[in-house]
Amino acid sequence: MCIICTEEYKTIKDLQVIDCSGCTTLVEIPIIPGLQYLDCSHCPNLTEIPVIPGLQKLNCSQCINLMKIPTIPGLEYLNCSYCINLTEIPVINGLKGLDCSGCKNLTEIPKIPTIHTLDCAHCPSLTEIPRFPSLQELYCSWCTHLTKISTIPELQKLICTDCTSLTEIPMIPGLKNLFCAYCTSLTKIPNIPSLQILNCFCCPSLTEIPIIPGLQLYCRLCPWVSQNSDFAGNLNKLIFLQKKLKRLYAGKKLEALSSQISEIYYSPGCKGYELAKRSFYSSTS
Ligand SMILES: [Zn+2]
Repeated sequence: MCIICTEEYKTIKDLQVIDCSGCTTLVEIPIIPGLQYLDCSHCPNLTEIPVIPGLQKLNCSQCINLMKIPTIPGLEYLNCSYCINLTEIPVINGLKGLDCSGCKNLTEIPKIPTIHTLDCAHCPSLTEIPRFPSLQELYCSWCTHLTKISTIPELQKLICTDCTSLTEIPMIPGLKNLFCAYCTSLTKIPNIPSLQILNCFCCPSLTEIPIIPGLQLYCRLCPWVSQNSDFAGNLNKLIFLQKKLKRLYAGKKLEALSSQISEIYYSPGCKGYELAKRSFYSSTS
């Protein structure tokens, strides 16, 4: 029971902050004039939130039965993370921070022009991040169906690890930090001159990364990045190929397979044999 359920809130003058988080009996929230901050997170029986004029901050995280969030004029921060029944977020003009991570049924995020921080990680139904004109920080890791991130002009920090459907990072001229580890479909990272930190750990499809002096680079297990073509890099390529072969031919005997491959490529008279012979002689002469 919280101060709403006990009606204690009615006795308090100038109530600006209410924390009724974790209340399992709360089903409805009254309109409390003057309220600026409401924390009603973890209230499993809450299905609706009213328009509370003057509310600046709303935390309704993990309200698993909440179906809708109203348009609250003047709201600056909204945390509706892990509201698993939420399918849309209204356009709230003036909203600066939005955390809608873990909203697994959310299919799109409205283009709110004032947003500067957006956390939409773990939203598997999202396919696109639109162009937010004021967005500076974007956290969209584990959006496994995300195929497009728009060119967001003011973005400085982009954390998009484990976005396994993402093939490209847009050219964002002012971007400083980029964490795109485990983006297994990512093929290219553009040459963004402002980049200070790049973490592209384990991006097995990546072939191109920016070359910027002073860049803090964490690029391991990206076997096809040409900068990794030293001994360790080539070893990684071999390990990567070995893993891929093991996956492809799971259940088949790898030894039998490798003897078949060598038969095809290195038998006298076969094309592979000619190629191998030529490269052998050109490397020794
Ligand atoms: Zn309560």
